[in-house]
Amino acid sequence: MEVTKRIEIKSTKPLRDLMAKHFLEIDEAVQTKNKKVAWCTSVGPAELAIAMGFLVYYPENHGAMLGSTRSATDCIPFAVANGYSPEICSYLTSDIGAYLKGETPLTKAYGIKSIPKPDVLIYNTNQCRDVYDWFSFYSREWKVPLLGINTPRNQPKAREDVVNLVASQLKEMVPNLEKVSGCKLDIDKFREVIALSRKCSDLWEMVLDTASARPSPLTFFDACIHMGPAVVMRGRQEANEYYRMLLAEMKERIDQGIAAVEGEKHRFYWEGMPVWGKLRSMSELFAKLKACIVASTYCSSWIFSALDPKDPFTSMARAYSSIFITLDDKQKEDYIEEKVKHFGIDGVLYHDAKTCPNNTNSRYAMTTRLSERMGVPNLVINGDLNDLRCFSEEQTITNVEAFVEQIEESK
Ligand code: SF4
Repeated sequence: MEVTKRIEIKSTKPLRDLMAKHFLEIDEAVQTKNKKVAWCTSVGPAELAIAMGFLVYYPENHGAMLGSTRSATDCIPFAVANGYSPEICSYLTSDIGAYLKGETPLTKAYGIKSIPKPDVLIYNTNQCRDVYDWFSFYSREWKVPLLGINTPRNQPKAREDVVNLVASQLKEMVPNLEKVSGCKLDIDKFREVIALSRKCSDLWEMVLDTASARPSPLTFFDACIHMGPAVVMRGRQEANEYYRMLLAEMKERIDQGIAAVEGEKHRFYWEGMPVWGKLRSMSELFAKLKACIVASTYCSSWIFSALDPKDPFTSMARAYSSIFITLDDKQKEDYIEEKVKHFGIDGVLYHDAKTCPNNTNSRYAMTTRLSERMGVPNLVINGDLNDLRCFSEEQTITNVEAFVEQIEESK
């Protein structure tokens, strides 16, 4: 396939340095025991752990690394041999599989021998139940305390009874975290971390919003890479400094007319998870077709606008109980429609990720309902976040090319 030349995002090098710092700092803590380490689900109560002095490690980020390095497919059978179905979350099966196989992409990337053994595991089922099963494995394996928040899902936006329920679970978690950390929660420190996290969310939202410019300075594929600090370093000053730099670069690209996709003709929305092992080839496919994926549900999932340092527990409960994945279909459809209008979308791409029904929204006719309501065509891409056995590249190329042709004819 012909490769379209792209102007590289300059902030990519500082991004790599920042991510390296994150992993090396945690590794050092494990080796020297100078700090406690908490594992946290990607939209779990990280701010609470940071305020109590923990360094936070996110296994889903490790899952994404296994996917993007394409080692996931070799690791999954180790988890399957241990009794885990290949039909469940392939982050879970590839991460546990990699552990059982005795390997991690952290070794090649940063010279780190193994994933960091935590002092505590903290999950939130706001995204799925799989995270509970995933963390339970390590809790049994390493005899490490497992703490969790159980959040009702499929609900209209942030019901007060749900917010109160989650806030009380967060408060109940505090004495257990204090037991592990050996120090009391300082409420002012907690407010400070919430303020930093909120700032990170605001800056990340502004970065994503630069894609509303024509041509867009970044694509969904770029955002999948640059969302790293929002996922693993929110609540820390370094993440905010990074996003100030990235935002300035995106504004500069807009001013200079630098397009993420040269000759941008079509603007798409991506609904669902990335296919991590195919980010580059899919980025090249869409660039070749002059189509820019300018917005996505996935990358916007790390926007937590409800966080408020004045009311740390309740606002955190509200922020984490009202993320897209927790909403009912009606709310999800309103959300996507708003994005489609705001970003001037020509077509919506739904990724049906075989092992993640939680982040897949194309199975209960949302595609038809939204297409009729907005008059915007859609395409369902069958694949998976990590298990490449569920993804046919040839079929995807054929379907995407036909979809773009259909859009061109209708213009
Ligand atoms: S939301 Fe999906 S990908 Fe994420 S942990 Fe749950 S099942 Fe896995």
